[in-house]
Amino acid sequence: MTRRVAYRTCPLCEATCGLELHLEGDDLVLVRGDRDDVFSRGFLCPKGAALPKLEHDPDRLRKPVVRTGRGADATWREVEWDEAFAVIAERLPAVIDAHGRDAVGVYVGNPGAHNLASLVHGRVLLQALGTTNVFTASTVDQMPKQVSAGLMFGAPLSIPVPDVDRTDHLMILGANPYESNGSLCTAPDLPGRLEALRARGGRLVVVDPRRTRTAEHADEHVAIRPGTDALLLFAMVHTLFADGSVDLGPHLGEWVDGVEVVRDLAAPFAPEAVAPACGVDADTIRRLARELAAAPTAAVYGRIGTCTQEFGTLASWLVDVVNVLTGNLDRPGGAMFTLPAAGSSTTGSVPAPGRGVRLGRRTSRVRGAPEAFGEYPAACMAEEITTPGDGQIRAMVTIAGNPVLSTPDGAALDRALAGLDFMVSIDIYRNETTRHADVILPAPPVLTKGHYDLALYQLAIRNVANYSPPVREHAAHEMAEWEIMVRLGAIAMGMGTEPDVDAIDTMITRQLVDKAVTRPGSNVEGRDPEELMEALATRRGPEKALDAMLRTGPYGDGFGADPDGLSLAVLEANPHGVDLGPLVPRVPDILRTPSGRVELAPESIVADVARLQTALARPARDGLVLVGRRDLRSNNSWMHNVEVLVKGKARCTLHLHPDDAAARGVVDGATVRVASASGAVDVPVEITDTVRPGVVSLPHGWGHDGEGVALGVARRYAGVNSNVLTPADALDALSGNAVLNGIAVEVAPA
Ligand code: SF4
Repeated sequence: MTRRVAYRTCPLCEATCGLELHLEGDDLVLVRGDRDDVFSRGFLCPKGAALPKLEHDPDRLRKPVVRTGRGADATWREVEWDEAFAVIAERLPAVIDAHGRDAVGVYVGNPGAHNLASLVHGRVLLQALGTTNVFTASTVDQMPKQVSAGLMFGAPLSIPVPDVDRTDHLMILGANPYESNGSLCTAPDLPGRLEALRARGGRLVVVDPRRTRTAEHADEHVAIRPGTDALLLFAMVHTLFADGSVDLGPHLGEWVDGVEVVRDLAAPFAPEAVAPACGVDADTIRRLARELAAAPTAAVYGRIGTCTQEFGTLASWLVDVVNVLTGNLDRPGGAMFTLPAAGSSTTGSVPAPGRGVRLGRRTSRVRGAPEAFGEYPAACMAEEITTPGDGQIRAMVTIAGNPVLSTPDGAALDRALAGLDFMVSIDIYRNETTRHADVILPAPPVLTKGHYDLALYQLAIRNVANYSPPVREHAAHEMAEWEIMVRLGAIAMGMGTEPDVDAIDTMITRQLVDKAVTRPGSNVEGRDPEELMEALATRRGPEKALDAMLRTGPYGDGFGADPDGLSLAVLEANPHGVDLGPLVPRVPDILRTPSGRVELAPESIVADVARLQTALARPARDGLVLVGRRDLRSNNSWMHNVEVLVKGKARCTLHLHPDDAAARGVVDGATVRVASASGAVDVPVEITDTVRPGVVSLPHGWGHDGEGVALGVARRYAGVNSNVLTPADALDALSGNAVLNGIAVEVAPA
């Protein structure tokens, strides 16, 4: 059979690598890195190369399935789409009618951020469900960064990214891009870019309790105690003020409020005061600050380790405070804001002041946790399902998520899901979470979907745009994801199982067009929306909305206003992507705070500093603490059913320092029991000095041995669920993000 080649952006992680797909007919047989991709230049990791195995995985759901019975008695039956929607239509509205819209909870997993249909039509599904009980993977991941960016700059995705390709000095905290390939910093081949930084004479410093692969490639590794990044960063701020080296730079100075407040807040956090808690000596802390201040350009970048801790928002905020105080925010080589081609809330309109962000507009029913950006902490889900009363969750909709493995106290959530009245999942697997669903609606294969990284291009280290068209048509038994979402939403709205899908789809794009023509300064301001809709008439689904966003975006053709501008047609003609250039300064245009300025000392963050001071005064605790671990071949919980990615040396092991092993009589390879206040797991141990003494590390996303889980390969490499150990009641106060790092544990031979 003759081979054909197609190009598409990898949908599996945040790096957005260009793939060269080799197909025989419609069959994907080989994946290579696309050397002509304007952003990734041929880079490919093992996950991208394994895409054919993922597409061909025999355990993937190809048709909807309906469950009968529960637990050990559960049986699953493949059904046609009509029957699946009929079951949902019979049971989901019944829950809403009897108990109200908040009786339905929603959980959206991480793959949604990479999925155009989810980003465009998923919102409509949420609106149709009309529930306030919305949970996502954000609150076990990056919510602190969204909160700090929202408060400082006025929008949750106005997150500065390190200008890796031009910086002279990069300090990374709690991130391991050699394994993760980057996060909240879209940069294909980030390891290669870090090596290029060092090759041109730049300096790379990694702050992490583990000597990660990234740390091994750095000029310096600072082995901090887990959960103390905010203290270390505050001490660096203290040093900058004490040295008189605070210099915001002429580009930024007049746009920043709150510098004096930050100086006063930093007063109690002298390097000597925080050193014992951080496990980093005071001279090192001072030197870290001075090196940053002295570098021609520098950036501080914090990621998941700085978010999934007790002071996640403070740590995330302080990362950008240091960037501001050293004059590195919003200048080449520093920490900069992307100007994305589509989907940004901070382009195309008259700049600041804006409305800013509002947090805590309501609180969760059981424990009173504040919402952030329309969602409650994922850690609240189980109690909202099991605690009786008005607003109790009695049905769940999950979309591409496996919160039993991904969120705190997974065992409690597992039990809670088993007691629901009804559950429907959009997922490609029957996994630890979806095994509780009454109906699973399978998303179609990657090759049938168009792809554009609407969310991730907002955080890219270059301005780029790349659209991948579907490689093949849907088979008769497959349904487009956007259509699944529209149909589900229609059922929730009481519109039955045969809604006018195209009318709903058109309405979504019409809303975007209406906004664009009324937005001051937009390239279609004042135009007739009907004329614009007419130009989009040949498109359907997410592509229709994407074309509207591109054409009305900062590089857009304005529907003819700029013939050289971007449109979806232009991206279709450029299968390797369009490079829109290096990042450019965006202050003040990007600012949407009510003051129209950078808020260096937002009120709610200032109020939270007292909590950090109290923690600093706490007596040091003996014993071990648990942190997580990334692996290049894992993608949270969901790629463990691809044999080529899991075979070989076991990866779900506990890393234990030799001194801690000797103190407990534990030998390498033995099975140990790890116990926390929440639960216990038995896991093989790897003795290694890559963790600092007092710290143990266990990767997340494992534990595939549950009853009813249909993951044949993953079951053979099951591992244990690290979230059995993480407590549901430990949250970062401001963002509601789960505390997954720094958990007190005991380790003993099993
Ligand atoms: S780094 Fe990420 S985007 Fe690139 S090939 Fe690997 S999984 Fe795909």
